[in-house]
Amino acid sequence: MYRNLVHGLNVKIPLNNDIYTTPINFDNAATTPPFRSVMKEINSFSPWYSSIHRGTGYKSEISSEYYDQARNDVLNFVNGDKDNDTVIFLKNTTECINKLSYRIKEEIEGGIVLTTRMEHHSNLLPWRLKYPTEYVETDKCGRLSIYDLNEKLKRYRGKIKLMAITGASNVTGYTNPIHEIARLVHDQGGKILVDGAQLVPHHPIDMKSSDSLEHIDYLTFSAHKMYAPFGTGVLIGPKKLFEKGSPEYPGGGTISFVSDDSVFWTEPPEKEEAGTPNVMGAVALSNSIKTLESLGMENIDNYELNLTYYCITKMKNIPHIILYCDLDFNNKISIIPFNIEGIPHEILARILSEERGISVRNGCFCAQPYVQRLLNILPNSYISRPGIVRISFGLYNTYEEVDILIDFLTEISSNIQ
Ligand code: PLP
Repeated sequence: MYRNLVHGLNVKIPLNNDIYTTPINFDNAATTPPFRSVMKEINSFSPWYSSIHRGTGYKSEISSEYYDQARNDVLNFVNGDKDNDTVIFLKNTTECINKLSYRIKEEIEGGIVLTTRMEHHSNLLPWRLKYPTEYVETDKCGRLSIYDLNEKLKRYRGKIKLMAITGASNVTGYTNPIHEIARLVHDQGGKILVDGAQLVPHHPIDMKSSDSLEHIDYLTFSAHKMYAPFGTGVLIGPKKLFEKGSPEYPGGGTISFVSDDSVFWTEPPEKEEAGTPNVMGAVALSNSIKTLESLGMENIDNYELNLTYYCITKMKNIPHIILYCDLDFNNKISIIPFNIEGIPHEILARILSEERGISVRNGCFCAQPYVQRLLNILPNSYISRPGIVRISFGLYNTYEEVDILIDFLTEISSNIQ
């Protein structure tokens, strides 16, 4: 339905038998191909491409306007708080979470960070390596345990300064009830960070929320997972947090005055964007957001979930397939983790690619503690190369592509003794 919106889908690639085919990309949780509109925008913006904010030339003014407008587009897209939030453009989600982990130090002083066992390493290590950190467990299916969440909220009442939680798992696709959790955490004086790297490209986001106790304090996501190029990540949060203290990267762009012995920082967001910013990346992201908005995030979510439902239903009928997620229409994005009994995950991923041109991801997806639990491997015990194969759909994937996958998985399965 949305296929012709996306750039670069019709290239030909060789298979093992030297026959050429159009590839099938089921690895959208890693990176999505760009929208055609994004490629067009990059082209038409390129004559105006210029260094921003400190130039007085006409082009520089146009570039600056585009860059600043991109911040507004981002904030509107996630319904951020226009009066209080700031939009900081960095390299990717990982850099955004790391930045926040440095800048929020004072707020966390004397308390703890609560996170979960289902996090990507990028929303785990920046906290664990700097602060006292506690974890909400997952249940045996990999969902966040609401029982344990309540236990931890009770046990650490008043000590939780930040809940750092993913909006959707990059392994199972399970989403978390972020607004309900926000309410519980706010109720005891904490703040919430949502790692939106997986949620934002697939699901409508409402940071501000109609109920102020349920608002999201901090949100991060990456352009390269939402049909725009690599190199742009977004960190949104209250401007006043970033007004305090020194940025962890001082330098060009971050100051308003420097003398031999003093420095005055500029205002956020510029204060947090050291060096020459990635204007082209912000312009591209703003265009992809407009395209997503014109399609409607609810429609995208619906289409992708129907496709996921269709695929899981078919996979359930194939012998030897082990699925690591349930059918779940309400709390899921379009990710399907699985294995085939007796076939190592890396071999299966390779066969899919070399025999049918189907790209998937395999391994632990930068979420090793979570995958260890899903596979029932004791945390901290070293087993060489555990892993899962992951299918992840984008809005442009089709039922015909899923049928090709299902036919091939059926064939592989039928060869297992
Ligand atoms: N968080 C989640 C849930 C992710 O899936 C990813 C990437 O896959 C990241 C964070 C890190 O994103 P990036 O590589 O763009 O920094």
